[in-house]
Amino acid sequence: MDALAKLELLGPPTCFEPAEEMTGSSRPRRDPSRDELAGFVHQAVMPNGRRIVLLKTMLSSACERDCGYCAFRQGRDFRRATFTPDELAGLFVQFHRKGIAEGIFLSSGIVGGGPHVQDRLIATAELLRRRYKFRGYIHLKIMPGAEREQIAAAMRLVDRVSVNLEAPNTERLARMAPHKNFAEELLLRLRWIEEIRQESPGRWPSSTTQFVVGGADENDVELLTTTEFLHRYAGLARAYFSRFSPVPDTPLENHPPTPALREHRLYQSSFLLRDYGFTVEELPFDAGGNLPLESDPKLAWARQHLAHAPVEVNSADRRTLLRVPGIGPKGVENLLRERRRGRLRELADLSKLGIVAKRAARFILLDGHRPSHQLALWPV
Ligand code: SF4
Repeated sequence: MDALAKLELLGPPTCFEPAEEMTGSSRPRRDPSRDELAGFVHQAVMPNGRRIVLLKTMLSSACERDCGYCAFRQGRDFRRATFTPDELAGLFVQFHRKGIAEGIFLSSGIVGGGPHVQDRLIATAELLRRRYKFRGYIHLKIMPGAEREQIAAAMRLVDRVSVNLEAPNTERLARMAPHKNFAEELLLRLRWIEEIRQESPGRWPSSTTQFVVGGADENDVELLTTTEFLHRYAGLARAYFSRFSPVPDTPLENHPPTPALREHRLYQSSFLLRDYGFTVEELPFDAGGNLPLESDPKLAWARQHLAHAPVEVNSADRRTLLRVPGIGPKGVENLLRERRRGRLRELADLSKLGIVAKRAARFILLDGHRPSHQLALWPV
């Protein structure tokens, strides 16, 4: 099987694995003709906001593990393929030279243990950096059980590393992936990544994780508690939430799928934890520990806490302003700068600062007055 035929088998499955912010426009085609290399790549938004075209693929779809949610689980009957590091690096460089791909996301199934596969992933990244002098974006997956030295070596080569926790704690992971060890194989690796960054400050890659949402019947409190912990203590840049969807011929094939809206609410809440100064305890969970699907969590919080105690935008501090629906981190910076020039009196003043004034209106005072006359026009 040549390298392009392997990519036809190994590339498409990774389109379902979040790696960077993907734009919806370029899902790979399932059966690209051999001349249509562009069919394998995705538009992705980088951590700095830049958009690039990313090749996403696995090094191998062979796997010795038996994760209940995974199409690649051991013993499942489908056509598998494995790249050598040379093959994959050479193929990516062809893509790069033709202007088709600017960066690469690389993951793999596990055969021969996590450390063995990690060596092959690192070898691929090394070939790209050293033999082919590729200076663009590389995102490398850290395998369960990878050694500390391997992680440090990977971090010296790439722009982003990720360790997929899949579940929020030991008990939940045991239900979905009985052969993975949450604390030792996965969580510890995220801690090591942060330790390596702290030991020698410099330009290190960012780190992310992924959860399979709903596969272990966990609730949102569990997922967001672990997310908050990782932001605080493991320097996590981003948690990705992938809703569980049953795969035929897996142990969880009869488990119900997770609604897309739950995934969306988890993302919104994780941004509140990471960028808006909220804590898990403040989020509006129901009695079962889940976020209400019908409302945006920041709006739900504001309805409880700000509807009768509106925020004066001319004097509130940054942290308080960030609690107001419609005001984001950029809007706050603009607002604080504008306040030094004079008082803000109209909703139109806020709109000019990148604030969604119609959303904020119900929860603010402008120079001592509620912009109440405008409320009927702007339902929130
Ligand atoms: S180790 Fe990874 S590839 Fe293998 S079955 Fe589990 S999730 Fe799938």
